[in-house]
Amino acid sequence: MQTAMLPPRICDEIERLIRRNDTLWVSFLRAKYKIREIVPQTLRSTNGSRIWKGLNMVWEDIRNNIVWRVSSGENVNFWHDRWIDSLGPLVHHLLPGRLPHCSNIPVASMVAGNGEWKWNELDQLLPPYVLLHLAAIKCPLPSFGNDNVAWVMTNSGKFTVKSAYGVCAGVEFGPEEDVWKLIHNFKGTQRMKMFLWMVCHGRIMKNKERVRRHSMTDASCGICGHPSEDIDHVLRTCPHAFSIWSSLVQPSLLSVFMESNIKQWVRDNLLQRLQFGRDPRGWELIFGATCWYLWLYRNGVVFGVDGIESWSIMVKVREWYAGHAAGLQQLASATGSCLIGSHGVRRAIPQFRKNLWFHLKIFKWSDCDFASRCGLA
Ligand SMILES: [Zn+2]
Repeated sequence: MQTAMLPPRICDEIERLIRRNDTLWVSFLRAKYKIREIVPQTLRSTNGSRIWKGLNMVWEDIRNNIVWRVSSGENVNFWHDRWIDSLGPLVHHLLPGRLPHCSNIPVASMVAGNGEWKWNELDQLLPPYVLLHLAAIKCPLPSFGNDNVAWVMTNSGKFTVKSAYGVCAGVEFGPEEDVWKLIHNFKGTQRMKMFLWMVCHGRIMKNKERVRRHSMTDASCGICGHPSEDIDHVLRTCPHAFSIWSSLVQPSLLSVFMESNIKQWVRDNLLQRLQFGRDPRGWELIFGATCWYLWLYRNGVVFGVDGIESWSIMVKVREWYAGHAAGLQQLASATGSCLIGSHGVRRAIPQFRKNLWFHLKIFKWSDCDFASRCGLA
């Protein structure tokens, strides 16, 4: 098993070797194998101790999953190192046909004398969404101390056996996993919550999956005719869905909005980490409702069921949000707690009063013929 490659002793050594490199043991190891960089490209020597050979075997996985925490910026390569968590190496984001004058420069070299990024140079090389990320990052200074690295698969940045096993075995234990907690705390309707949960689990039945199971022969999108309809297409990349998101999402963040995988996409929007919405208030509710109505519209088209019209999706989302948000605020004011506007939603249910029921529609599972065809049963 791949876990055999990462016994606890080796994990401890990785943590010490990178993050606590002032200990005697690490100093000895670095001196013995002549390691001068903080994070070497390779460990080269194959004739070392058993621990060194073990480190050598997993070193590429380690390097691919660390991110720099920039302080002085003198030890971090601006273009090739991963120092902006969500973007990866910036060399992958260069504008088409553009190349930096010198690719082997530290982050500190991209800071101008006035303490700001060299915008004149960066404007020519990087797209706007990367420049926005840079604008949100404080420029490095020598007085900030030494650059350090963090393990990208944990929120704390600390290396753990569990997360390393996830990397090697292809199992997700990373930050994306908090999507389940975010869905649990989602304040939309139960049906929306269940839908988002199934989207992230890949349990929504799409035409592509139906063809794979030989229950139909045509995998194309019933709305635009795209040859392969999957959930990403239905909710995001179908021209019809894209036009709706274009009017809801900030133009400068639209490319980021369209990039991530479907699970991270749900997480980022529920977390509001990047504040995608033109109006960020209640964005997680608008996001969830838009996904839900896009799915209902798609089912209406595919199954010939009287559903909602294409033009009315945004109207329905806005109407639903206005009514739902008002209900939540009414409940919040009655119970003295804050129910909307943040993810730290406090539970007001124990203080719930009988006369304050709002928007609680029980889903009749007897209507499940439509539900099953929609992939919800
Ligand atoms: Zn389509």
